[in-house]
Amino acid sequence: MTKPLYPCQRCEGTGTIRAFAHVMGGVCFKCAGRGTVATKPRASNPKFAVFGMSRESGAPFLAYYVTAPNAARAVAKARATYARASAAYRDDVSLANAVAVRADELDCTDGQVPQAPAWARDTLRTG
Ligand SMILES: [Zn+2]
Repeated sequence: MTKPLYPCQRCEGTGTIRAFAHVMGGVCFKCAGRGTVATKPRASNPKFAVFGMSRESGAPFLAYYVTAPNAARAVAKARATYARASAAYRDDVSLANAVAVRADELDCTDGQVPQAPAWARDTLRTG
């Protein structure tokens, strides 16, 4: 039985990477130039914007962008980063009722800081 093979994501199945043409002719080290790999590539995770709350104004505050498989994991990841943030930052921003919104669902007008959608603002307020 032969194992299924998947296209190599690093070289996009070509077996070589042009940017590394000066290193061993640009052969892809991940697939050894075969263009295929035996391990199934992981689906790439979506990007989430994690909103906390400004302690001073009570307004939603875009705290972090993280990639995660789902919103709950995105919040957990943001909280882990937040735990290592400066005390000053943690004094300004609360992640107690943090909400993760998929970045591609954000209301983003040109040059503006993305705003939390209405449902996220309700969650931030009430927990
Ligand atoms: Zn490759």
